[in-house]
Formats: sequence, structure tokens, C-alpha cells
Amino acid sequence: MPELPEVETVRKALKRQVLGKKIISANVYWQNIIAYPEVKVFEKKIKNQTIKNIERYGKWLMFELSNYYLLSHLRMEGKYFIRDRNSPKEKHEHVIFNFEDGTDLRYNDTRKFGKMYLLNKNEVFDVKPLSKLGLEPWDNNLTTEYLKNKFKRKPIKTELLDQSIIVGIGNIYADEILFMSKINPVTIATELSKTDCQNIIDNTRKILSEAIEKGGTTIKSYTSSEGVHGRFQSHLLVHTKDKCPICQEKIDKITVGGRGTYYCKKCQKERVV
Ligand SMILES: [Zn+2]
Repeated sequence: MPELPEVETVRKALKRQVLGKKIISANVYWQNIIAYPEVKVFEKKIKNQTIKNIERYGKWLMFELSNYYLLSHLRMEGKYFIRDRNSPKEKHEHVIFNFEDGTDLRYNDTRKFGKMYLLNKNEVFDVKPLSKLGLEPWDNNLTTEYLKNKFKRKPIKTELLDQSIIVGIGNIYADEILFMSKINPVTIATELSKTDCQNIIDNTRKILSEAIEKGGTTIKSYTSSEGVHGRFQSHLLVHTKDKCPICQEKIDKITVGGRGTYYCKKCQKERVV
């Protein structure tokens, strides 16, 4: 599954290739990918829209068009390809945008879990899916007070994955953030100290920034999610690792809130309350 740094890499690569292009038509081959509006309306409204910018909110790509925002979530396997109009449609290409210049932007998704919304510009943050989302990791409003207000009596690992608190932290980076912050993943979030919360904020920013930076410098193609995934893994400290890089203790794997979770029981001690 692409995490925030990978989506940011996709955003930058797409922006280089499709900025300023005009969509003359679109074809949807798998209806469920279009969450809003109805497919026929989607195909009609997107005609003659020019791509003005590509932004990102959490793991949502936001294509700013002339009159709308096209939101796209890649979920498990979504990828974008630029193709020539004449190249044959591939099996997993479910949404195809035809540009005026004879090229296509093709959305490819082997699992078909991806979602797209086409929304009016002035309401994009007021309606689903963005209205339910929390703060971006770099938002100045992300403070220890904010976290203390938002955290519920649940394991901190679960709360870090809750997109209504902070957007864009996935399973891999949640483990890394807790390892760097020396916090056991099952610790009840409401019992964390102010220092713990500050460490979480600082390490979230640090880890995600570094991952974005590395993604931006070494990824040649955004079309291979496997390549992206493998490269990020080599920089991980605890997720899927056998040995703790600090104390050499064996890394434990447990399940928290249904998600595979890696941690060092020595560096991330359980706290007695
Ligand atoms: Zn350790």
C-alpha cells in the first residue's frame, strides 16, 4: 500500500507530466472507482477541464481542474500511467482520461480498491472524503494540546493510524514513529505525557520528510509501486526487521487493532499505570 511519501512522489512525477493538459474526454470501465458523482455525470463534467495543479492531502491526490477538484486515492494497488492514445487498453486500466495532445492518463488498479471524487472547488474541504480528515503532519495546528484533545482510550498505534487525527500515517511509518519515540505500541494514547506527544509530532515530521526527500531523489518512475516499496524498506529501523538497531534485542511482532505491529520490547517498554 502506498504511504504518504510514495503518494507525494507520485504527485510530483504526475505534476511534471500532466500539468496544463486539457482533458477532452474520460472513460470509466469500472464504475465503483468513481465514488461521486454518478459515472455519467463524472464523464460529462470532466470534459474540457484543464489540469491547473496537483496537490495532496494525506494520501489523497488532488487534481485541481479548471472548475473542479478531482480527488484520487490509490488504496492498495492504484497507479497512473501516461500512454499514447493508440496503445491498446490493458486489463487493469479502469479509468482513462484523454488529453487534447493525443496522450492519455490511465488509472490502473489490479485490486480495484481505489476511489475518485469530482467535487466543486469551493466545497472540497467541506464534504466527504476530506471533511473527515485530521491535520497534515506539518500543519502548525498539530500540537500536543491537539493530540491530547483528539486521542481516545485506545492503543497509540491505533490512534496514529486514525486519519481523523493526523492524515497520512500508514502501518509502516506508525511503527517507525513509535520506535523513534520509545513508546510501546499498545500504550493507551490518553495516558501519554506531553513529552511523548511532542516526540510523536517531531518524529512523524522527521521520518515522513526524510522518506519524501529520498523518494524525490532516487525514484525514476512512479509506475512501479514495488520499486518504491522496496527502496523505502531499506531505510526502516523496526518494521519487518529481526533485530533492534539500538540494543540488538529480537524485534517482536504483535497485532494491534488488527494490524501487524513491530516493536522492540526493551527500547519500547510497556508502562505500568
Ligand atoms: Zn531495542
